[in-house]
Amino acid sequence: MAKKWPVAVNAAAGLVLAGFIGWQFIGGDGEDAAPAEPVVAEVPAEATPLEAPRAEGATGVDRERISNADAEPGNWLSHGRSYNEQRFSPLDQITTENIGELSLAWSLDTDTTRGLEATPIVVDGTMYMSLSWGVTIAVDAKTGEELWRFDPEVPGEWGRYGCCDVVNRGVAVWKGRVYVASFDGRLFALDAKDGSVVWEVNTVPGPPYTITGAPRVFNDKVVIGNGGGEYGVRGYITAYDTETGEQAWRFYTVPGDPSLPLENPELEAAVPTWKGGEWWKVGGGGTAWDSMVFEPETDTLYVGTGNGSPWTREIRSPGGGDNLYLSSIIALDADTGRMKWYYQTTPGDNWDYTATQPLMLADIEIDGSTRKVIMQAPKNGFFYVLDRMTGELISANPFSTVTWASHVDLETGRPVETGEGEYGDRTAFVLPSANGAHNWHPMAFSPDTGLVYIPTQDIAGIYSLSEQWKEQGEFTPKKNWWNTGIDWTDYIDAINALPEIPMEKGYLKAWDPATGEMKWQAEYPAPLNGGVLATAGNLVFQGTADGFFHAYNAETGERVWSQRIQTGIVAAPVTYMVDGEQYVSVLAGWGGVNIVSGDARTSAAAKFGNDGRLLTFKIGGGEELPELAMLDQSIPEWPALTASEEEVRQGEIGYATYCMLCHGALAISPGVTPDLRRMGESTREHFQDIVRGGILSDNGMASFADHLSEEDVEAIKSYIQKRALEDRARQQPVN
Ligand code: CA
Repeated sequence: MAKKWPVAVNAAAGLVLAGFIGWQFIGGDGEDAAPAEPVVAEVPAEATPLEAPRAEGATGVDRERISNADAEPGNWLSHGRSYNEQRFSPLDQITTENIGELSLAWSLDTDTTRGLEATPIVVDGTMYMSLSWGVTIAVDAKTGEELWRFDPEVPGEWGRYGCCDVVNRGVAVWKGRVYVASFDGRLFALDAKDGSVVWEVNTVPGPPYTITGAPRVFNDKVVIGNGGGEYGVRGYITAYDTETGEQAWRFYTVPGDPSLPLENPELEAAVPTWKGGEWWKVGGGGTAWDSMVFEPETDTLYVGTGNGSPWTREIRSPGGGDNLYLSSIIALDADTGRMKWYYQTTPGDNWDYTATQPLMLADIEIDGSTRKVIMQAPKNGFFYVLDRMTGELISANPFSTVTWASHVDLETGRPVETGEGEYGDRTAFVLPSANGAHNWHPMAFSPDTGLVYIPTQDIAGIYSLSEQWKEQGEFTPKKNWWNTGIDWTDYIDAINALPEIPMEKGYLKAWDPATGEMKWQAEYPAPLNGGVLATAGNLVFQGTADGFFHAYNAETGERVWSQRIQTGIVAAPVTYMVDGEQYVSVLAGWGGVNIVSGDARTSAAAKFGNDGRLLTFKIGGGEELPELAMLDQSIPEWPALTASEEEVRQGEIGYATYCMLCHGALAISPGVTPDLRRMGESTREHFQDIVRGGILSDNGMASFADHLSEEDVEAIKSYIQKRALEDRARQQPVN
């Protein structure tokens, strides 16, 4: 089994296939060589230390104000700034001319080492944002002083139920309240002044549902979806009354158990598109875990839906069929939840090709006439422009490397599959991977340049059909664990067979949605970089995996400013104004899908740790980030391996099935959760207590006693030991 690796680096890197998961093991700081007791790195804060309640800004935010967001460009009132979610700010004090003087105004330590994905909301000098788990803070936008903190106190073991870290993408504000969903599926209305709970409602039946998305608010309704498509859940979104928390409507995205009545009439058309399987036993998927856009003009809520559960269509729906409404853009009547139209980007999804990526509304000129469009760059690699009034497909052009389909037929609106994506009788390498050509990281549109700025990557996914299905025609779901239908043994064997793990690149692409052409691109050493902000200063801002915050000339793509920030950025920046000064602010904290798909070779978090911070810049800010020391990346001594080859192989399969999704393929962590090769002696001694006993469950490292026997855990430890010994023997710097 000895493998030849060119360098002892994170292998998972490019080839990992999914949005993966995140629970916390011993903290995300990557250190564990010390022979002490396992260290708790992230202590959930107790509720609401409140000294000076000055956070009154959200009081007057309503439909009128958000609809006219351009009239108050100093604020950032909703998730994508305005209801059209273009993430374009009319502020133009910071420009390509003076950006050389942009520097740190202040930074705030968020007390988390897990991924930070939220877009802050800014109202009249106060910022509101969520951190990991749904912890929410209010911050003075001028000084960076934390005004209040709310902790939903999510049970740490819930971390095991999330595919891609314990992240949260933001809050919504409305009439004096802040709305946020916690990782365990509860929706909260908080008083914007002090963070106290006005009401709380549980939106899910239990695990393995999770929520990572930001709620949206309109017409005195707050709407939220959920996630869990990798585990096996049934997707739905729900609207609640903003005053009372009472349910207004719920829309299920896929049919449930056929022996039960349909919950919403739209499912009647969906039922015949699911053929022959028992999808409802693993939920079917279609989770609406991120994108939702409200349009006041027509009172429409546009929602993106996720992949199938399980991923593999042969298991989910052996008779074929499109499996509505997976991987679709759905237009709903915002007041009733009834569907107006849908467009399915990936009929019969087979690869985790979600259409949950950010949706954006714009009026753009196409072939001489102004069209009211909705745009999306979903995981499957095509950039879609639809008429948002009718759902008519206007164009769909590949914005990244795509091997699973040759093109989208504009007559039928359907992708034409090449067969390259089939994996029934072979292990297939497919582009894009389940990471997506573009994932959740927000894109931005500048009406000044007419360009959409998209964070993209080229990563090959490895897909192989479940052995159990191939051999017995059966699929036995694992309770509260991954049920994708993918065979992880074939997956690791495919990785092991590679001579080396290729470096993967990421890009920022400036895309002309009217012509379907790329205008310029910036190339990055790593995939899965941050969300994007565009401004009227002819600027585009983006943070990166390798620990930089960059600005570009929006027109030409010239990089005009860079700041090293010591950890990876995945969140999207915002810009706002206080007392006549323009600020640019971004949450810096590596994580999300990068928890395993990130590459330790390029990950700033792997080098410097992952202390989450809110960073805010202005012209002449003059502050400096506290310098972080490079982490000790060495692998400690381990005793000689005594386990048999068979035991190590059993451990390798167990690791790939249960550990890899958070701790990295080949036991190399990209820097969010601990690198297990660096376990100290004490952690090794307590390995059974941790993995089966759940002694670190408060941190997010839940017990796996429901799936792993003591013997399994010993075997996994032997596999980690083997990997540690291999990489230590190379005596090279790990990164
Ligand atoms: Ca998924």
